[in-house]
Amino acid sequence: MNPPDLHRLFEAQHYASRFQVEVPLLVRRERLLRIRKMLDEHGAVLAAAVQADFGMRSPRLTEVADFLVLRNLLNQCLRKLARWMRPQRVRTPLYLLPARARIERQPLGVVGVISPWNYPVQLALAPAITALAAGNRVMLKPSELTPHTSAQLAALVEQFFSPDEFCVVQGDASVATQFSGLPFDHLVFTGSTAVGRRVAQAAAVHLTPTTLELGGKSPCLIDENCDLDDAALKIAHGKLLNAGQTCVAPDYLLLPRGREQAFAQAYRNAVARLYPTIVGNPDYASILTKRHLARLRQMLRQAQSLGARIDVMGPAQAQPGEAAASFWSDAAERQMPPALVFGATSEMQLMQEEIFGPILPVITYERLDDVVAALNAGPRPLALYWFGSDENVRDGILRRTVSGGVTVNDTLMHIAHDNLPFGGVGDSGWGAYHGEQGFLRFSHQKSVLLQSRWSLGALFYPPYGPRLDRLMGLLRRWS
Ligand code: NAD
Repeated sequence: MNPPDLHRLFEAQHYASRFQVEVPLLVRRERLLRIRKMLDEHGAVLAAAVQADFGMRSPRLTEVADFLVLRNLLNQCLRKLARWMRPQRVRTPLYLLPARARIERQPLGVVGVISPWNYPVQLALAPAITALAAGNRVMLKPSELTPHTSAQLAALVEQFFSPDEFCVVQGDASVATQFSGLPFDHLVFTGSTAVGRRVAQAAAVHLTPTTLELGGKSPCLIDENCDLDDAALKIAHGKLLNAGQTCVAPDYLLLPRGREQAFAQAYRNAVARLYPTIVGNPDYASILTKRHLARLRQMLRQAQSLGARIDVMGPAQAQPGEAAASFWSDAAERQMPPALVFGATSEMQLMQEEIFGPILPVITYERLDDVVAALNAGPRPLALYWFGSDENVRDGILRRTVSGGVTVNDTLMHIAHDNLPFGGVGDSGWGAYHGEQGFLRFSHQKSVLLQSRWSLGALFYPPYGPRLDRLMGLLRRWS
């Protein structure tokens, strides 16, 4: 799409959003129902497109991780929208009585959405659904790295919506750059921290508020008192879902020193249970492209050359300890076997960048205080996972660390909870959506004060003098 077309689309949405400022419940519900119909009727086509983009990615995984999430979100919005839209009455302080006050929730106008490739339907449509529920117009720019899915989304959205309601803009990073330069009323970006910074800068030119859903290194902390088998299964599930290409995947493990062998065995068993085979297994997703695979392989090679020990899981492996490069033959191809990495250090690339693949570095610790200090010294992560049975230790960790969200004794699950806001903090992003938080994120909360004809406001008017002093004295005593 060339810049004039992009601007024309934006102008049409902008004009419509200013022409129809009030967007009634019925209109919003009808838009949401159209998305539901689109997913019901064309979900299979979209899932096939996702599979075509990944090479190997089970439509069942897309059903769970993309469609189930979207259906739940749609149902929640349809159920609760009337309540969310209602003006909220607030108490009025004594000095303003008998005025009344309320907060009205209004659409912002035009919301831009830039989405990544890893859950290409969910992460494109979830912000769009929430923004539409809040009465906005939406322009979506999905990832160029999932071209089949993005093309399908564009065709379906065009079929179900007029371009001034909801439209899809396809294109590469240069289109994305122009897109993020449009004067949206709000811009939601889901993607990497590096690109998120650029998006925030571009949006700042127009004072466009942003929601940045970014990534980072989410730690998984195992306590001394912990059922290792259960933890390993849940960690393997969280790490290997979509082959590690999940923003909230546990990035690395913090394990009490001396438990390495036991954990490796438990993880091996867990992987074998979840994925009896790797190569050719339709449940185990491919790494998106050869370039992404090469990056992961390079990380392993570098870690090995710097002294790390790599433990490859699954029947597709060569012998453990063999050079990392040899166990990835090229194809079936981009299904990369899971691996644990022992002895990872901060000089290794895999401890410096978000991994975004099925590699789990295991870092051992002796004192929890050291772990907390290390976590607080680094960028704040999107998620933190804690496994253990001692509630005092758990609460200590929760109080002393800051992360976007936490799941205790499992991985990923806080993201699936309708009523928990989902988002990052610091380097992992800002602003959260999901549920009512999302509705509020994409609404303007307008303060309205309804003055009474019996208002005492004139007591505060000039000319100032002893009367005002007496009044201020009284108010000081009452407040
Ligand atoms: P990315 O940052 O490379 O790309 C995301 C989107 O940004 C794409 O649509 C791309 O076209 C666009 N883009 C690229 N350059 C741009 C620019 N200069 N200006 C504006 N837009 C630009 O991310 P990715 O590789 O698609 O996704 C992986 C990353 O996303 C990981 O870091 C992951 O953790 C993160 N992520 C976060 C969440 C979350 O909810 N917090 C969810 C999924 C993925």
